[in-house]
Amino acid sequence: MNFYSLNKIAPNVTFKDAVVKGLAPDKGLYFPEKITPLSKDFFDHIEDFSNAEIAFEVIKQFVADEIPENELKEIISATLNFDFPIVAIEENIAALELFHGPTMAFKDVGARFMARCLGYFNKEGKTKKVTVLVATSGDTGGAVASGFLGVEGVDVVILYPSGKVSDVQEKQLTTLGQNITALEVNGTFDDCQAMVKTAFLDEELIANKNLTSANSINVARWLPQMFYFFFAYKQLKNKQKEFIFSVPSGNFGNICAGLMAYKLGLPVKQFIAATNINDIVPDYLETGIYTAKPSKQTISNAMDVGDPSNFVRVLEIFNNDDVKLKEVLSSYSFTDKETQHAMKEIKEKHHYIADPHGAVGYLGLKRYGVDTNAFGIFLETAHPVKFLNVVEPIINETIELPKQIKEVIDKEKVSINISKYEELKQFLLNS
Ligand SMILES: *Cc1c(COP(=O)(O)O)cnc(C)c1O
Repeated sequence: MNFYSLNKIAPNVTFKDAVVKGLAPDKGLYFPEKITPLSKDFFDHIEDFSNAEIAFEVIKQFVADEIPENELKEIISATLNFDFPIVAIEENIAALELFHGPTMAFKDVGARFMARCLGYFNKEGKTKKVTVLVATSGDTGGAVASGFLGVEGVDVVILYPSGKVSDVQEKQLTTLGQNITALEVNGTFDDCQAMVKTAFLDEELIANKNLTSANSINVARWLPQMFYFFFAYKQLKNKQKEFIFSVPSGNFGNICAGLMAYKLGLPVKQFIAATNINDIVPDYLETGIYTAKPSKQTISNAMDVGDPSNFVRVLEIFNNDDVKLKEVLSSYSFTDKETQHAMKEIKEKHHYIADPHGAVGYLGLKRYGVDTNAFGIFLETAHPVKFLNVVEPIINETIELPKQIKEVIDKEKVSINISKYEELKQFLLNS
């Protein structure tokens, strides 16, 4: 299995090189050369498989022989050491909870899988020490910090905007120590991201450091997200309904993984990409014109993305054929007001506390319409505790802190303050 760059200039690479490089040298995203559907037998007996066994079947063609089977199985079982429950909300609507991992957002699975793959490549002495450099507006940083903690041969440097992440998120980034360093940037998320981009283009740095990125452009973070859709199918198959998945979407990595699962043969009637007012894709599906816009701030802030980087992969899955794409994918955008209203309704009518992202997913199902032959699943991408300031006033209730959060909230924050790119560069060169 090889991966090609969607910009079609850089040479094809193996899984290992795609993981270590992150982005292709021509700045394109990597995409698998071939997608082979899974056997009918697998789907007929999926309920007999454990989650780890399902994950192995789903991912093995993409990893190919870059990681031996037994090692890959170990990586998968270490990655998936928590649950992915389906929780009934209405007669034919359920939430797929993806927040039972260590940082309580769905990004844990991709981050943990990628960390272990890099760790393996390193242990084999197949690559020199890697520095993972990542900018975060909140959830990515925590998941990456937790996923990479203690992984040998990998240093992690996280840039976050001072005063602009929630208390819980800041503690998740700054309290781990070991191979994780938090750089607290005097600026905005866009400033953090600009510094990271500059670093990846800095010849002096590249000559001295093996830099890689850990956001969803990396195939090892993107592809494991396919697992969720299979886990849901396994739990719901006996309902014998037509399944509709609604995915709260920002950078479109998660929904793109869902569409890959569909390509692998997962029986799904429709996918819905539900967005907040950052409506680039709903707009595209309606007009056929893709217009990136500056991101707008919302209460579902992990989806405040004005130029979703994985959407080119979505187009590639359908060979850039919009007609085929629209047969499977719908996309709708919702305002904060609608989202708040949905959270209130879900709590009052169905006694479930949705986070703002999950609520956007729920609204996507409602807009599309789930008839009696169908069953709708919205992805609950984060625990509501991560968005306390938004959630508590709406549901009029205090949320108890889960143990993952209690463990970090009283730890001491350790960060290094920086203001400009030179300081980041010096830090990286000296570390
Ligand atoms: C990152 C994130 C999203 C968006 O996922 P994409 O793969 O970027 O579309 C949605 N919800 C939460 C809670 C997130 O952290």
